[in-house]
Formats: sequence, C-alpha cells, structure tokens
Amino acid sequence: MATKKRRCLNDSNSFCVIYGEYTFAKYRKSITDFVKSAYFKYFGVHISNLQKPWVPNTVCQNCVVSSRQWSNGKRSALKFKTPMIWWEPRNHHDDCYFCMVNITGINSANRDKWSYPTLSSAQKPLTHSDQSLAPVPSTSSTSFEPENIENEEEKQDSDSDFTPSQETKPQPFNQSELNDLIRDLNLSKESSEILASRLKEKNLLTPDTKITFYRTREKDLLPYFSSEENLVYCNNVEGLIQKMGLQKYIPSEWRLLLIAAKEV
Ligand SMILES: [Zn+2]
Ligand SMILES: [Zn+2]
Repeated sequence: MATKKRRCLNDSNSFCVIYGEYTFAKYRKSITDFVKSAYFKYFGVHISNLQKPWVPNTVCQNCVVSSRQWSNGKRSALKFKTPMIWWEPRNHHDDCYFCMVNITGINSANRDKWSYPTLSSAQKPLTHSDQSLAPVPSTSSTSFEPENIENEEEKQDSDSDFTPSQETKPQPFNQSELNDLIRDLNLSKESSEILASRLKEKNLLTPDTKITFYRTREKDLLPYFSSEENLVYCNNVEGLIQKMGLQKYIPSEWRLLLIAAKEV
C-alpha cells in the first residue's frame, strides 16, 4: 500500500478505485489480479498509479461481483462505460476528491444517491448510452485461465461473510438488518411495522424476523423507569445508558443535558 505523504480528510482507501464511490469497511476488497484483468478487458486501460496516495487501493464488493458476472457472461455490461480517472490533486482545499467528498450521514439506505464532487483530479465515470455496445469478455487477452480466476476469487472471498451466488437473488432481511435499516431511516413504531409487513408480503424477510418486534421495542427499557402519580422518572440512569449501548456513564458529561432539559 502506498505511503501517505499528504493527509486527506477521508482515507483514499475508503473509496472504490473503479467508480470512486464511498465503500463501507466490510465491502472493501483488495485489487486482485482478476480485478485488474477484468478492468483492462472492459475499459481497455490498466488501473494505473496504484502506488500513488491519490489512487485508492480498494475496490468495492459490487464492482468485484459485477466484474465477475460480466467475465462469466452473466451480465452484459458494468454500471459505467468508463472508470473513474484519478489525477494528482493540485491542492487539498478544492481539488482533492478525498478531502471534498463529505460522507457525514452516509448510510446503506442513501449511499446510492450520494453526490460526489466533479474535480479535475477525479474524472467521474461516464454512463453507457447503449449497454448493448459494452465490450464482450474474451479470455484470449489474458495470461491466466478462467479456472484461475475462479480460484483467485474463492480465496478472496473466503474470509468474508459474502456468498457470491446470493448476489443475483433477493436477499431477505434478518431482524438485525431490518432493525439497522429502520434505525437509519428513523422510522416510528407504526411506520416500522408497515415496512416490515410489506417486506414480509414480498417474502423479503427471513422466517424468524418478527413484524411485531417494533410494537414493543421499548419494553426492554421500561424497567428503567418508574411512575409515581404524575411523575415519570428514570430510576437507573447508569443501567439505561448501558442498555442503550453507551460504554460508560460519566455523570458530569450529562449534567449539561439535564439542565437544558429542565428549561424546556
Ligand atoms: Zn486531500
Ligand atoms: Zn466500485
């Protein structure tokens, strides 16, 4: 990996070298010979300057999967006609992709619609005007056999929780994935239940995922509260804080909040 001489606001390796999209840590893959070969066959140029700090040394899982499907003839085109073209930025304040992309608030629900800056140092990919004109994979220009490609990919994926064959089929949400999505979308109890039941109707939930989970999602927290006449209060602040996943309750850090809450 290239040593970083410049310091950017974001790590260049959290972006995909092919299309420049921000990639969550668990979907970052290293650029294998297979990826380089597929890239060359599709775009007609090599991935270059990987040793430079201004070129990501990461490829996203989507791009690995699409490249493999294209190579196997299972899809006719990749998402874009050209890859991201990386150039050395002139400066960090208005020409550096890794400093200019603001990833605050990005999550799995909004990631696909996230906007990225147009910069002279990072030429964005062009979309296909006609996917049927996309290049056709050929094994003749490669130095290794298709079997080697498969082996290479199996090695690549063996340490991740990712199963390639599931990628083309719908992948139902399990309870914790659905909970994550609902939290990301900040949904109310009612909306959560509607979403869950619609997903269930379409068979997009794993069998053990409960729709009614959200109706009582506060029940675990109720023991931390007491009610006396008109007063409802928290009877175990430390326990509540820990239950909500915060590591440690430091009363002095919460004093300000209490004062503010009293004034409301
Ligand atoms: Zn920078
Ligand atoms: Zn990608």
